[in-house]
Amino acid sequence: MDKIKLSHGAGGEKMQKLISLITSSIELKKTIGGSGLDKLEDAGIVKIGNKKIAMTTDSYTVNPLFFPGGDIGTLSVYGTINDLAVMGAKPVALSLSLIVEEGLAIDVFKRVMKSINKASKSVNTPIITGDSKVVERGSLDKMVANTAGIGLVNNLITNYGAKPGDKILVSGPVGEHGLALLAERFGFKTKLKSDCGPVLKTIEKAMSAGRVTAMKDPTRGGLATCLNELAQKSKRTFFVREEDIPIRKEANSIGEVLGIDPLQTACEGRVVMCVRPKDADNVLETIKEENKRASIIGEVGKKTEGRVVVETKIGGKRFMEMPIGELYPRIC
Ligand code: MG
Repeated sequence: MDKIKLSHGAGGEKMQKLISLITSSIELKKTIGGSGLDKLEDAGIVKIGNKKIAMTTDSYTVNPLFFPGGDIGTLSVYGTINDLAVMGAKPVALSLSLIVEEGLAIDVFKRVMKSINKASKSVNTPIITGDSKVVERGSLDKMVANTAGIGLVNNLITNYGAKPGDKILVSGPVGEHGLALLAERFGFKTKLKSDCGPVLKTIEKAMSAGRVTAMKDPTRGGLATCLNELAQKSKRTFFVREEDIPIRKEANSIGEVLGIDPLQTACEGRVVMCVRPKDADNVLETIKEENKRASIIGEVGKKTEGRVVVETKIGGKRFMEMPIGELYPRIC
């Protein structure tokens, strides 16, 4: 790796290499009593007095800026909100930083701001600080947004907590953000929309209906990356059934045209959770109030190799691999 390529930013194995280059360069990785770059979770945890605060940040470079089901504004609010939510945190406040290319139409800028405002109100989380910069034409494509967020943790859920016997749940059909966005980029006609949205209610309902042991949102690299990370971090083998993984017909057909596996491309409004077996049906019933296609897709095994085994529709078994990277960059 002597130069950084687009694929280093696109989820999967190559991105992991870039991340380890970052984390190996930083010596101070966490605060006392908290967790941070040592754990690489969806948010870092800071302990202040007897309170735990989750903190996260994310930059958004999506192309095109507007797509079916959302835009860079909704994405930058909900993406950060969801990274707080999967840690079991209640979002408290957001920051917003925008870097804009000279020449961007004010109307486009206003449309994005309107979306950001609407999304922030919908999750009742104020934007309390921010920054804006303008750069020369050609030095970036239209606009880059960054949000950071803090949230109060009552019941900390980590990426590491899956236990043997846990059921693995997904909160709705997968791959829709990546595929809807690429369909728009390449001018394909489809009814598919991005699932871009907050997972707060789903998580709130799940946590009040049973014991959730681990949680993560399947964003870049899709469900396949998310399951592999949860399996590796808990050092358990995950078993999933292909036929129980919800995928919309439209997602499958766009995936076939583009040569993209819906399991390996981003969701922006879904959550994967591991739940104690006795609570799993109860949790599934309540999260189905948010999305009818939520599903129990498998179980956490006793083996400690940290891999994901998938039982195919025809009854065979294979490893579900983490993709090398998303085939197309700038989907979030
Ligand atoms: Mg995340």
